[in-house]
Amino acid sequence: MRRIVSAQCEVAIVGSGFTASLLARVLAVLGYDVVMLERGAHPRFAIGESTTPLANLSLERLATRYGLADCHRLATHGRWLAHHPEVRRGLKRGFTFYRHHPGESFADRGVESERLLVAASPDDALADTHWLRADVDHHFVRQAVAAGVDYRDRVELTGAEVKSDGVRLRGMRAGEPLELHAGFVVDASGPGGFLARQLSIPSDLDRTETRSALVFGHFDGARLMADEAPGLPSGPYPDDWAAVHHLLDEGWMYSLRFDHGVTSAGFLVTPRGLASLQLEGADASTLWRALLQRYPTVGRLFAGATPLMPIAFSPLVQHRLTRASGARWALMPHAFAFVDPLFSTGIAWGLRAVERLALAFEAVASTRRTPELPLLARYESALTAEADQIDLVVAGAYEAMAHFDLFAAQAMLYFATVSFAELRQRLMPEESAAWNGFLGVGDPVLEPLPHESLRRLRRITHGRGDAGSARERAEFAAWMASAIEPRNVVGLADPARRNLYPVDLDTLIDRHALLGLSRAELMESLPRLRGLGPEPAFARG
Ligand SMILES: Cc1cc2nc3c(=O)[nH]c(=O)nc-3n(C[C@H](O)[C@H](O)[C@H](O)COP(=O)(O)OP(=O)(O)OC[C@H]3O[C@@H](n4cnc5c(N)ncnc54)[C@H](O)[C@@H]3O)c2cc1C
Repeated sequence: MRRIVSAQCEVAIVGSGFTASLLARVLAVLGYDVVMLERGAHPRFAIGESTTPLANLSLERLATRYGLADCHRLATHGRWLAHHPEVRRGLKRGFTFYRHHPGESFADRGVESERLLVAASPDDALADTHWLRADVDHHFVRQAVAAGVDYRDRVELTGAEVKSDGVRLRGMRAGEPLELHAGFVVDASGPGGFLARQLSIPSDLDRTETRSALVFGHFDGARLMADEAPGLPSGPYPDDWAAVHHLLDEGWMYSLRFDHGVTSAGFLVTPRGLASLQLEGADASTLWRALLQRYPTVGRLFAGATPLMPIAFSPLVQHRLTRASGARWALMPHAFAFVDPLFSTGIAWGLRAVERLALAFEAVASTRRTPELPLLARYESALTAEADQIDLVVAGAYEAMAHFDLFAAQAMLYFATVSFAELRQRLMPEESAAWNGFLGVGDPVLEPLPHESLRRLRRITHGRGDAGSARERAEFAAWMASAIEPRNVVGLADPARRNLYPVDLDTLIDRHALLGLSRAELMESLPRLRGLGPEPAFARG
């Protein structure tokens, strides 16, 4: 007879990506007895690397609320280098986009180039980062263990039964059966979808508009756009130190440079784009090479690059479920839904969910010890609306890829929405900020826009990539500029900027009224902006 290793805990967390270990750690800080179960072992490769101001704002809030000094230090590139140089990362000053055309090198037409740069930070020290997930996730797991989380790796979970008083998880570890009785379970297994399978949660993928396949890897020796197009007018930051997006006929490519020279890169290819390549059944490397060959500048960037792992292919990156929580369980966003890496929403959304679940547990720490049903229902409806919203913004952007002018206009919707949210949350911090809708959900001005924008774009592109007439594109850009105007606190959609948007405090001060602040109130709250105020005491050591 084999021994069954049986254990009990208040909260079981499945997976050990950053959302799992941050939530586990916060719950341990709050005095919960937490077990975190990982199928693999750290350090391990993970995808999803580029952070944004909203992600780093969440990290800072978690740091302040629960005393997690490292989260504050990892929330800007400068603090990260000063305190955790051993955790590898990349400098991300903003979002860079180029439009490429098959068979043609990227055309340097000066300020008329098909190039869009939107700064997310005023300098390198305050900049966002790309996370080398192998290092970052390992770091957060170690911190969770140090906070008292019972972490078990190499666990193969085989069953979950949800009852009125808790959840029973079954599995194997090191050849021995394992059984865990938990008061509550959080599924942070990402697309692994552990609870979805165990609880037979139906897929809701049909309500997701976006469809894309992925070909990706990590590479050594990729060249920089600065070398390939050296004469471009200087932008608000060096183009390559950003989340670099190459827009193509078949979809787009991301390229994220880490400080140690490794580049994470991947093509997101639409079904129509994939079919047009006529490479059905081809392996990942063949697809990778075919796409590089079609776009000479992108081809040169990666011609001499060495893959650090086998290039991988996933025919469909989207997934979506009908449920995100129940009386004894909750799903992290990446287990619930994923749309596409365009606009780097994943980390910010995941951290927002960590905050929300942490608050839900915090509220009952001295009473029932499992989140109240109304809060879990609120969590589920927030994630549902937000997954829809991310999808609409991204689906619109895919339509808009038909022409660079359309894309640049659609991108303004994303940037207006997130910059407004960031500035409101920084300048007017609220206890309940974590429950604010992500990507404009709940905002009467912003919430309807992605749907309307997608509708307008499809009228131009006919859903088949038509670029429309110059007049149609200009009308769309004008509509977008006026639609975002009530939330456009940073001067986006301004033709005078020539698609090069720096961080501009003067414009912010001029537009104080859009935030509901007088000029004097805005000036007074400016020190709350990233890096302008004093650091919390725990962050100085
Ligand atoms: C191609 C691509 C690019 C992306 N780029 C970005 C980006 O630039 N910026 C951004 O913000 N977001 C990006 N994302 C999204 C990002 O990857 C996710 O938001 C993020 O990884 C979510 O983290 P997580 O900790 O919740 O889950 P994950 O990172 O998915 O971690 C899940 C963990 O659970 C473990 N696991 C799985 N199944 C089981 C099981 N049955 N039992 C136990 N453990 C299990 C896995 O081993 C893993 O450790 C991208 C996603 C994709 C697909």
